[in-house]
Amino acid sequence: MGAKGRKGRKKVAQAFRPAGHAALKRCATFGLMVSTCVLARAQQNPNAAANFVSVNAPVVALTHARVIDGTGAAAREDQTIVIRDGTIVEVGDASRVAAPAGATVVDLTGKSVIPGLVMVHEHLYYPTGPGVYGQLGASFARLYLAGGVTTMRTGGNTNGIMDITMTRRIAAGEMPGPDIDATAPYLNGPSTFLQMHAVTTAEEAKNHVAYWAGQGATSVKAYMQVSREALKAGIEEAHRRGMKVTGHLCSVTYGEAADLGIDNLEHGFLAATDFVADKQPDVCPGQARGQQALASLDESGAPFVALVRKLVEKRVALTSTLTVFETFTPGRPMPPGLDVLTPQLQDNFRRARERVANNVESIYPKLFPKAMALERAFAKAGGVLLAGTDPTGSGGVVPGYSNQRQLELLVEEGFTPVEAIAIGTRNGARFLGRDARIGTIVSGKQADLVVVAGNPATTIADVRRVVTVFKKGVGFDPAKLVESVKGQVGLW
Ligand SMILES: [Zn+2]
Repeated sequence: MGAKGRKGRKKVAQAFRPAGHAALKRCATFGLMVSTCVLARAQQNPNAAANFVSVNAPVVALTHARVIDGTGAAAREDQTIVIRDGTIVEVGDASRVAAPAGATVVDLTGKSVIPGLVMVHEHLYYPTGPGVYGQLGASFARLYLAGGVTTMRTGGNTNGIMDITMTRRIAAGEMPGPDIDATAPYLNGPSTFLQMHAVTTAEEAKNHVAYWAGQGATSVKAYMQVSREALKAGIEEAHRRGMKVTGHLCSVTYGEAADLGIDNLEHGFLAATDFVADKQPDVCPGQARGQQALASLDESGAPFVALVRKLVEKRVALTSTLTVFETFTPGRPMPPGLDVLTPQLQDNFRRARERVANNVESIYPKLFPKAMALERAFAKAGGVLLAGTDPTGSGGVVPGYSNQRQLELLVEEGFTPVEAIAIGTRNGARFLGRDARIGTIVSGKQADLVVVAGNPATTIADVRRVVTVFKKGVGFDPAKLVESVKGQVGLW
């Protein structure tokens, strides 16, 4: 790697030479010769994915690794994984699987390999001012990848075309980041949000979905003020185009949304208004009212059990985003990764955290454990649980770091570490319909792999100790990715 890295840097000085253009053109036309393409892109563009690569060879053998395969099965010790042209071609006991001649061999003694994370409530924006969301896609994509996320759905978009443009640029290697299922701008009714459309009629909802699908969006997120009529039309149009719809709801209950055919609901049960006694149709009673009702809800009582049964029967997945709610809960640990933020955003969050700590009337000491219990009951009843992080709230949810934290919180919720990893990998891949290619470590799938020091099957916190993130067989260096944005997240 050392030699290749030096060569790469030397060539940057010769950028924009015609030879580079020719090489790039071949990449686009044939998609062949991965290393040549990667190098050509590094010459052209200092932000190219290639500048953050630590392992790049046609054949790579990861030897003596502990493999946690993402199926929920127990970890397997002393495994060899052979990667050829971006695909896992063999995985098995080191005694049986030999590194092919000419392979780049990486000895992973003492380390573990898990599938690349597939998380579904991610954003390319962040709260930077009162009611204002800064568009931080370029730095966030690096942080997500550094944290081990190789595929993500953006669960809501306040920037219009950027999620879609970034999806294309990342796929082309023009910038580093996870593969993206790009969500259209929110499908919402009239609200106070400056950066959201206001869609009221069925016709408007249909047109909104159709327009953004035409631009390249591949999923839809409904929001708190959407009406049943608009949501129904949005779901129909999305489904007609093979897109899935999720929702952070309030005006529409979980039960109503399930009946309308929604595919996924966000924030566990914390956005459910089903249990608000005087809930008026199509009116959001306020998230706080919904949460008050949830805080004292009995997870074995008939109303909750009936809702769970409906969601399970209709195969509506639920996304756990404990990370964002943890930042609202007094007495919880300081969230990881704050030092990548600009000093001003770090201050903003510290002040918000003090307010949380001093709020003696906070409902969260009761609500946060209840949210875990409700999610756990849903999964136990056969519900499909997905994982996401939601980098919003008051700004303490930092991409990449928060994805690792979400896995830790699923373990705190009661899942075993290998179950939590399966929720954050296989379940996401299945939901996105990409499980034939990603989500578990098996021969024939894309080599999206996270190498971590230690053993997350016994100590889930070891998922924070990322050594290398392989995406399509190319190994990225998390330290380089993080270093490139440190102290600047909030600006770009
Ligand atoms: Zn969100």
